[in-house]
Parts: sequence; C-alpha cells; structure tokens
Amino acid sequence: MEADVNLLIIEDRQEDVALVVNELRRAGIAPLWERVDCEPDFVARLERPDLPDVILANDALPRCGAMRALELLKERKLDIPLIVMADAVDEEAASDRIQRGAADYFVKDRLGRVAAAIDRALEVKRLRGDKQRAEERLEESERQLHLALEAARMITWTWDMRTGKRSSSPPDSTTIWPPGKAPPDLDTFFRSIHPDDCQPLFDRVQQTLKDGSGYSVEFRIPLPTGGVRWVRGQGRVFRDAAGQPTHLAGVSMDITDQKLAERALRESEAKWRSDQEKVQQHLAKLAHVTRLQMMGELMSEVSHEINQPLYAISNFAEASLNRLRSPIEGAGPEILSWLEQIAVQANRAGEIIRRIGRFVRKSPAKLAPADVNRIVRDVVGLLSVDVRLDTVELELQLAESLPPVKVDRIQIEQVLVNLLRNALEAMADNPAARRHLSVHTESLPSGAVRIAVRDNGRGLESGELDRLFEPFFTTKTDGMGMGLSISHSIVEAHGGRLEAVPNPERGMTFQFTLPVASNEAPDDI
Ligand code: ADP
Repeated sequence: MEADVNLLIIEDRQEDVALVVNELRRAGIAPLWERVDCEPDFVARLERPDLPDVILANDALPRCGAMRALELLKERKLDIPLIVMADAVDEEAASDRIQRGAADYFVKDRLGRVAAAIDRALEVKRLRGDKQRAEERLEESERQLHLALEAARMITWTWDMRTGKRSSSPPDSTTIWPPGKAPPDLDTFFRSIHPDDCQPLFDRVQQTLKDGSGYSVEFRIPLPTGGVRWVRGQGRVFRDAAGQPTHLAGVSMDITDQKLAERALRESEAKWRSDQEKVQQHLAKLAHVTRLQMMGELMSEVSHEINQPLYAISNFAEASLNRLRSPIEGAGPEILSWLEQIAVQANRAGEIIRRIGRFVRKSPAKLAPADVNRIVRDVVGLLSVDVRLDTVELELQLAESLPPVKVDRIQIEQVLVNLLRNALEAMADNPAARRHLSVHTESLPSGAVRIAVRDNGRGLESGELDRLFEPFFTTKTDGMGMGLSISHSIVEAHGGRLEAVPNPERGMTFQFTLPVASNEAPDDI
C-alpha cells in the first residue's frame, strides 16, 4: 500500500508512537513513519534526501525537545511542518510553541486530533509552496520585463499625485536619468529637465490632469557630462472612485540616437541638396557655354549667308536711288517707296545681325594651368548626376604625374561632356553588359597631353567620318550636329587637335591634345 504521508516522530516512548500510527490508520491515513529519540539521530535523518513531509515532536523530550528540533530545522532552512505533542494541557505553552513556528499543538490523550493536524499542516505547507512559486514566477517575469525595458532603453514610472513621490521600473535604471539623478518628486523632476522644454511639458501634464487624455511629449535632460539626452515621455492619469486623480503613470524612452540620426539625415540631405545645386549650376554654366558657342558658330554661318545678299540689296537700292535722282519717264513715287522699302529691310537685317553679334560675342577664353586628370574625374562626377553611368562599364586610365595644361577649364569640360555623351549614345543599343567606356590620359613625347574617349558603340558608317566635324552633321533624329564642331573649334583655339579614330574591333575613339602650360602649377590643385 502506498504511503499517504512520510512521517518522522521524535519520541522516546515506543507505545506512544504506536498509538499515533494506529490513530492515523483509523483515520484512513497510511503513514510511512520513522522514529528518532535524540538530536544526532534527528540531524542524521535530516541529511537524507527523502525528507519527511511532517514531523511530530514530543515537547518534553530530554535529548531533543520539539523546540530544539524546530531550531535545527530553521538552521537548515528546511520547511517541514512540525507538530508539537504535549503530555498535558498547557494553554500558555501551546501559544508559545505556535508563535515560535510550530505548525500545530496537541495533547497526547486527545490523539483524535492528530490526523486533522497533519492534514492541515500539509495543506498549509502546500499553500506556502504555491505562494513561493508564484512569487518566484513574478520575480522572474519582472526580471525579464526589466531586461526588455533596458534593451528598449525605456523605463515605466508612476507619480503618486497625493504625495508627489515617484517610482520607476527598473528602479535603479540609468536609461533616462544619470546615476543618482532620478528625481524623487515632481518639483525636482521639472527642475531637472531642459528649461526650454519645462513649460510645454508642464502644460501637457496639466491638460492631462484636466481632461484625462494621455500625452506624449519629447524633452531633453541636460547631462552632468555635458550635452543632453532626448526623451519621449508618454503618460496618462489614473483616478479614484470619486474621480480624483490618484497617480500619473507612463513610460519614458531614450530617443537620443533617433534624434542624432534624424539630425545627421537632415544635414546630409541639406549637403546633398547644396551639392546638387552646385552640380546643376555647373551644368547650366556648361550649357550656357555650349549655347553661346553654338550661337557663335551659327552666327558665322548666318552672316556668311546673309552678307552677300545684303550687300546686293544695298547696292541695288543705292543704284535705284541714283536713277531716280536723274529721273526717267514713267518712274514715279511707287518706285521710290519700293526702293525705300529695300533700304529699310536691308538696314533691319543688318541690325538683327549686329544685335545677335552683340549677344553672342565670344567671351575671351580664360586660360589657366589645370590638371587634366582632375578635369576628367570632375566631368565623370558631373555626368553621373545627369545620366546613368552605372549602366556602362567605365574605366579611367589616367596617367600619373601629367604636366599641367593651359586651358579654359569650362570649355575643356564641355568638350569632354560632348564626347562622353556621344559615346554613351553610340552604345545605347548595346546590351547593358556590353557597354564599355574608357577615358585615357597620357603625356606625348611632343610635350602635349592627350585625352582619349573610347567606346564600343555602333561606330561610323563609311562617309560619315569625313563629315563628323561639319556644323549640323548629325545622324540622330533629335541631334543638332553642333557638339563635335564646337568641340573641334574649342580644341583648336587651345592650340590642340581633335580627331576621330575608328576602333579596330568596334566603336570609336575621340581623342584630343592640349598643350602643356610652361612651368606653372595648376590652379585647381
Ligand atoms: P549630335 O550629337 O547632336 O548629333 P555631334 O556633333 O556631337 O552632334 O555629333 C555628330 C554625329 O557624329 C552624331 O550624330 C553621330 O552620328 C556621330 N558621332 C559622334 N560621336 C560618335 C561616337 N562616339 N560613335 C559613333 N558616332 C558618333
């Protein structure tokens, strides 16, 4: 039969033990029991792992009384209920034993109570165990909550509105307040935050107390080491049954990193915008140069075309007027007005040309020593803002320690922009993985510096090569055909040469030379 209870009896009288055991059996309890009658045996029994569920101890045993047994249990921190058995009724002794920790007390001649006492003691022990386990679980979950709060850089807090005192969890967290600086009351709290944030926060708390809404505010805490910690505080008000606010509770989160990241982002956005503006301004400047240059080229074409007829009109008008001055029969005022019209038109045409001429008058080139490699890198950087350079394989083979060249930087940049754009457009039909563009710089034995732009695009058809540098020669539907002709004049004006060389396998190389600046360090280094 299985034992209901594992019982240790501290008793020197065998017959009393038999009585107890019989009584328990009578009450339906099957005890597994042992008896000891002296302290060493009791201590030895406590050393064994199968500890008893309940101890029954004779109160007056000379070699190990019930109270001594209780002390030994306490020393060992053993939670085993101990029930005192007394020989005679003694109310005072009974309450003394209970006060000192005995689970129960009964007199031997009232053995009928023993079973109920054991049941109760076991029940109390079980409840105590349950309570302890619940407390352990609570402690564990609090520990986990604290860990989670620390990891999220948060604390939870409560302000008692009646005492003004504060408490927080984790209680000793330094997530929000520097060590030892957690404010103990509301007054200290408002004095501890940044003066600029104090009033808005105070107003929000007052508002919350009035209308019961929650609040979420950001504020700064000045740090003893300098700087501030940014905090987001969220709270709400709790009230008693009468509607009176009893406490404010909420969470505070350290958002300093987020604030710093936001600031860094704002700054880098602003820098990006200003860089972008600079690039746009530079591109606009280049476009302006192109436009002026283009107008210049156009102008020379136009004036060439228009000058002769103008001259003829002017001569004709002159001759007609002379004729009229020595009148012929039939020529009347009609001819005069016609001739006057010719003169007016001729003058007007002349004026138009003069106006355009004034507008596009080429500004003199501003020559200064410059580093060619740097110009190449800058132009590639500029272009990458405008076109998808990442869809081509771009290779820069820039010779080291090139001598500086004497150039108008803007104009040479424009030449490179033209050549690179043309190369990209020539490769537009290549599969993306097969677009190879390279820019190569080198110093020639003649002393000049050569810049070559090489692509593996569609190349040129026969007959096109001879016409490349003619104004208005284009094979593009939306092309102007002015880029190469302008580039050609710019390079020539610098004393260099621009030429187009078909590559042996595929595509074109456009290369130009620039004379070296004598003994001058580049301005742009
Ligand atoms: P646009 O680009 O407006 O046509 P350009 O003077 O820059 O004017 O170029 C003239 C023509 O030269 C282009 O239309 C094109 O047919 C040809 N061309 C220029 N560069 C290349 C190149 N890298 N590969 C093949 N053809 C080119």
